[in-house]
Amino acid sequence: MDQTARPDSIGVLTSGGDAPGMNAAVRAVVRTALAEGVDVYAIYEGYRGMVDGGDAIRRMSSHDVGGILHRGGTEIGTARSDRFRTREGRRQAAANLLAHGIDALVVIGGDGSLTGANLFRTEWPELLDELVEAGEITPQAAAAHPHLRLTGLVGSIDNDMFGTDMTIGADTALHRITEAIDALHSTASSHQRSFVVEVMGRNCGYLALMAALATGANWAFVPENPPQTDDWEAVLQRMLRAGRDLGRRSNMVVVAEGARDRNGTPITADRVRRVLEEGLGEDTRVTILGHVQRGGSASAFDRNLATQCGYHAVHELLRLAPDEEPKLIGIRGNRIATSPLMDAVERTRAVAGHVERQEFDEAMLLRGGSFSESLETLRTLVRAQPSAPIEGEASLRLAVLHAGGPAPGMNTAARAAVRVGLDRGHRMFGVRRGFSGLRDGDLDELDWMSVSGWVSRGGAELGTGRLIIGSDELAGIAAAIEEHRLDGLLMIGGLSGYEAAHALHAGREVHPALGIPIVCLPATINNDVPSSELSVGADTALNSIVADVDKIKQSAVASRRCFVVEVMGKGSGYLALTSGLATGAEHIYTPEEGITLEQLRDDVRSLTRAFREGQSLGLVIRAEQADAVYTTPFLWALFEKEGGELFDVRQAILGHVQTGGNPSPFDRIQATRLAVRGIDYLVDAAAGDDPVSAMGGMIGGRIEFTPLEQLPAMLAERAADPTAVPWFSLRPIADVMADPSR
Ligand code: ADP
Repeated sequence: MDQTARPDSIGVLTSGGDAPGMNAAVRAVVRTALAEGVDVYAIYEGYRGMVDGGDAIRRMSSHDVGGILHRGGTEIGTARSDRFRTREGRRQAAANLLAHGIDALVVIGGDGSLTGANLFRTEWPELLDELVEAGEITPQAAAAHPHLRLTGLVGSIDNDMFGTDMTIGADTALHRITEAIDALHSTASSHQRSFVVEVMGRNCGYLALMAALATGANWAFVPENPPQTDDWEAVLQRMLRAGRDLGRRSNMVVVAEGARDRNGTPITADRVRRVLEEGLGEDTRVTILGHVQRGGSASAFDRNLATQCGYHAVHELLRLAPDEEPKLIGIRGNRIATSPLMDAVERTRAVAGHVERQEFDEAMLLRGGSFSESLETLRTLVRAQPSAPIEGEASLRLAVLHAGGPAPGMNTAARAAVRVGLDRGHRMFGVRRGFSGLRDGDLDELDWMSVSGWVSRGGAELGTGRLIIGSDELAGIAAAIEEHRLDGLLMIGGLSGYEAAHALHAGREVHPALGIPIVCLPATINNDVPSSELSVGADTALNSIVADVDKIKQSAVASRRCFVVEVMGKGSGYLALTSGLATGAEHIYTPEEGITLEQLRDDVRSLTRAFREGQSLGLVIRAEQADAVYTTPFLWALFEKEGGELFDVRQAILGHVQTGGNPSPFDRIQATRLAVRGIDYLVDAAAGDDPVSAMGGMIGGRIEFTPLEQLPAMLAERAADPTAVPWFSLRPIADVMADPSR
């Protein structure tokens, strides 16, 4: 056997609990395999279909996986199979796979499914021997496929798996939970009521914790971190009563289904309800979200995560030596990462074991730093009132402002910044209308409750603006900083805000009052801030585009039609490329690449070919500044003329709906994490002798700070090679997914 030989045919299955995004993964596996010239089969109904064989194992064409990207659940079905748990069942499964020459698998499922797959792979040579002995397959057939290659993707809403920061489906589940809790918040505050919400998570508190952070809930109970004391009931009652006294209109407590106390006794939603009723003497309702959390259309993040994982899973299978250990494909620090599959499964089981045995410190350690950090942040933000203020000089006066276009999540970040600043003992000020407001001294001191309810609110309560800083502005702002005795500025906004902050920083030579530290945090739907791979607001805008494009596609039922959709992004193609990938666009135009006449000629040809071959729907996404001459109306006219009788063309310029709407859970979580770290940085800088101004951003999944002086150099570097941003690695994947020539 040639160790470098590629697998004959690849099989793909979804198994265990269904999760939104599984369809995107299957589609990506099929299209990548076909692009690589390898046959690919879908195994319907998970391992049950593998054991049954026959019609459950079907060869797939690119067309077979068209139109499934936006659907929830899994189109190829999933099931639990007891027969696959038996050796006899697995022998039958091996025979069924061999009948199609399948000797490589992509398994999309939870830890159970991946354990089963690994066992199957380990037994494979023996199973084939047994099949030869029984005369069911020929020795030649066995010799041609001596090993089973395997890669696994984690499809699970729980986000409970090692080897990946996010499992496929968790982000969508968080969307469902957040929508539900937002809705409950509005009814709860109308009636001054308390709600206890139970979310999924037997061993993993990820959904409960992140949902609580994203919705401003008052508390979260998670399996791996039970209340630290036995009198938690009294503590909770005291905390909620204090909140009521301060004017809080609703109480919301999130409980993971596997939550328990220090002694291992379950903390059920009903138990929490009784605690609240007894403590507050008021009506408390329980809502168990149940299977709603699994359902619905996959979020943009899940579609793109699943697509990337599916693409890489096939490439990994083609790279693996036949007898090489199986690999798990996941995401680490915002990049696709490959790890040994069984190691990931074993560590996942270890956490469950620790929780079971009430070894909570060990469980938390294995969960990792960002989980503990989030829990700590939640503890700070949910307090009804901050820790006591610091007296005298050490108490700083810190101002928060926005600049640039509005971005969903600005309010979330401002709220977290104000509360953390207050909790650290400082005085917090909110500046209205960005740097113009600062120049005009338009600012107010903010207290704990003044930011109540901001966590989920779209827009920007403080307002935002784009002020170009000239010498008059510098003098005005310096005077305002002096007058209000500000010790530091937190700017949460877009690129123009960064440029303004840099101008202030540079102006400190002339105006010493400008020598206070400034921290900039990225909040812009354009995702074009060079010091951060992701900015707050971009995920919400992306989901908004994806929801609109889904609807636009659905509107074309009766005709052959091609849509040209224009999305925002200023000079950045981030929204165009990521929304194109998440909606299955055939062509995506970005400013980083521009548009050439030659490319348009090719694209017209491929579009007309596809429609001639029977395609009924086309989708083209163009970033607003992709090209100055080849505008959206130009593309529309070109395609309309060239499409002739074959198809008609409609254009949709999505416009400002993209900057509106309530922030997505991901944006709320990032906004909160960034703001907490941003304030801590600012406090340290302001207390130091040599204050350093900085830009805080997400780099490789971590929050990093870069000196503000580096902004011009970073912008110049980006201008020299605009495609050298990490998200551009999605381009080849989008091309493989869209190629209509297969
Ligand atoms: P999940 O993959 O979501 O954790 P399950 O644990 O129910 O879901 O596993 C799904 C299927 O995977 C099972 O019905 C069974 O067919 C197979 N499976 C799970 N664990 C094993 C195992 N230890 N050996 C063989 N097959 C297994």
